[in-house]
Amino acid sequence: MREFAYERAADVRHALIAAGGGARYLGGGTNLVDLMKAGVEAPTSLVDIRRLPLVGVAEAPDGGLVVGATTTNSDLAAHPEVRRRYPALSQAVLAGASGQLRNMATVGGNLLQRTRCAYFAAQACNKRVPGTGCPAIAGEHHNHAILGWTPSCVATHPSDMAVAMLAFDAVVRYETLDGPGEIPLAEFYPPVGDTPHRETALPPGALITAVALPGSAMSPRSRYRKVRERASYAFATVSVAAALDPDDGSVRIALGGVASRPWRARTAEALLSDAPLTPDAFRAAADAELVAAEPLPGNRYKVRLAGNLIETVLKELLP
Ligand code: SF4
Repeated sequence: MREFAYERAADVRHALIAAGGGARYLGGGTNLVDLMKAGVEAPTSLVDIRRLPLVGVAEAPDGGLVVGATTTNSDLAAHPEVRRRYPALSQAVLAGASGQLRNMATVGGNLLQRTRCAYFAAQACNKRVPGTGCPAIAGEHHNHAILGWTPSCVATHPSDMAVAMLAFDAVVRYETLDGPGEIPLAEFYPPVGDTPHRETALPPGALITAVALPGSAMSPRSRYRKVRERASYAFATVSVAAALDPDDGSVRIALGGVASRPWRARTAEALLSDAPLTPDAFRAAADAELVAAEPLPGNRYKVRLAGNLIETVLKELLP
């Protein structure tokens, strides 16, 4: 690990000023510090934001919730109003990492965690050093993307939390020296294209301050299911966050483990908006969503797995 400076931010403006040059914000450090040890990240300075007043879950005027960026994953999952109004979000967070990691990891850091592609941690590749290729495509890719990937990169995004937040139309709020801004989570992660090293739409130096969960997306009838290679402490092979309103027939579906970003299943949702909510309709919607899948030889199994998981979760949500 290279030497770096450490500074604790006294307030948000102090953090923004200190974050110039090669500095990085330090939340729980559960991904960043690992990557520093591996030589993937080499910040000149860490700006500790853990004591900024960005913690907690608050009511929003629209009937939703606002989650502070330094709220720990454990506190988010355990919050009674998150569990009552957005249960899939609580379930998603609890499906990630381990208890110890969730006690440290922050909401902002969870959104910014980087891929767990094994090549990325071990060597130069397009995501680390543009133009150096993607060894995963011809190599080991059994847990890589089936949707939206390009020859530049076939990695998946590892967050469970972001999948559920996407299903609830969450909005990321941030602060810059030029003022505050916000980005819908659906636009937070750019398509991979030929720039896989560009992982978010945040302006340079921006500090995530909160995530807003709209009241209109509140859905006590929601669920998160995750298939993984062991019972705990494993990233998603495929995951599904879904919410269903049996009164107006609306359905929200997001997938994890299948793309470089959490994947909103808009095709499936559109089909179900005009169909009775039956198991046959769920199957047809899942199949339609996955027509766009382009699996590699080693991850074809994910297509069927994703279809089955969408159908299963939606059936579980029926009254
Ligand atoms: Fe790197 Fe992406 Fe290829 Fe993995 S999939 S080796 S992160 S370019």
